[in-house]
Amino acid sequence: MIVLEIKDIKELISKVGYKDFFLQLIDTLEEDYKNWDDFDKSPRVANHVDGGVIELMPISNDEMYSFKYVNGHPKNPDQGKFTVMATGQLSLTNTGEPLMFSEMTLLTAFRTAATSAMMAKHMAKKESKVLALIGTGSQSEFQYLAYSFIFNLEEVRFYDTDPKAMRKFEKNMSAFNVKLTACKDSRDAVNGADLITTCTADKKYQTVLTKDMITKDVFINGLGGDCPGKTEIEKELVEASTVVVEFLPQSKIEGEIQQMPKDFTCTEFHEIIKGEKSINVATHGTVLYDSVGFALEDYSVLRLIYSLAKKNKVGREMNLIPEINDVKNLFSLL
Ligand code: NAD
Repeated sequence: MIVLEIKDIKELISKVGYKDFFLQLIDTLEEDYKNWDDFDKSPRVANHVDGGVIELMPISNDEMYSFKYVNGHPKNPDQGKFTVMATGQLSLTNTGEPLMFSEMTLLTAFRTAATSAMMAKHMAKKESKVLALIGTGSQSEFQYLAYSFIFNLEEVRFYDTDPKAMRKFEKNMSAFNVKLTACKDSRDAVNGADLITTCTADKKYQTVLTKDMITKDVFINGLGGDCPGKTEIEKELVEASTVVVEFLPQSKIEGEIQQMPKDFTCTEFHEIIKGEKSINVATHGTVLYDSVGFALEDYSVLRLIYSLAKKNKVGREMNLIPEINDVKNLFSLL
């Protein structure tokens, strides 16, 4: 069984390069979403605790099984800890044998951004040039990078309630060739945007985006509303948009659509990628990808990173599963 640490992910990304890694990840996500019907799926298991949530996200098909452990504690940065931290495992389905255990804090940011870009690739206007980012914490630079490999982005408009997070974003982003516009509030940030990602963290019903702020048809990616009692988008804007989700049974509990009546229904993305439905900004007006993060996306990033780790001989073999000749003689290990 191999174990991947932060340094291993860093090494793999620098070997492969941001662009190739994101494009390979988007391809892998598309392939897995197309095979949606082959997966054994369930909403994630959430333990709601004071100040946050701790979740387990399992999924499998005939070939492999994966799970992610992830938390969401919006006040963690006040104590110098990440809001979102994650680890995960990939196993063989036929024997249950674990193949890899990996850090997933970085991998979550990569897979979330790649999923945003993949959704936008299928539903936003191809000529989108202006990205608005509301919330410039851990996820933000990854979001820009993934979109930048799908669209010809000319400008990023950004806003965060924390001026320090805005300065951090501006500094990191200076490495990339795009116009950066620091904005005074959300309304200012979305002015003229073609693509909008909301990635704020606060465990309450907040409205970082309201219907009256949207003055033209746009693609909205609502990332931060991903838990019961935690939303970002005004109900009237959800009602006025064409909503697409990952997995309806989970999104109804956790997404922006938790604000909608119990019998609310909408398109799941696999229907679009399989060609059963067509939804995009050009034909449907404003489209809201109500993201909560689904286990399939963790499966995709884990299977890709596993094959890259094997190919590049990255990661450490660890003796976490016993290896003996007589497998009924476990006691002999002691
Ligand atoms: P983070 O804590 O690093 O950053 C969040 C930022 O939001 C902070 O800088 C904070 O100041 C800012 N913020 C809070 N309220 C705001 C408001 N009203 N207006 C503007 N800015 C505001 O968190 P992160 O790791 O970047 O994650 C961001 C959000 O995305 C979290 O809510 C997290 O749970 C969610 N998330 C979702 C997915 C998914 O797949 N859907 C994946 C990862 C993270």
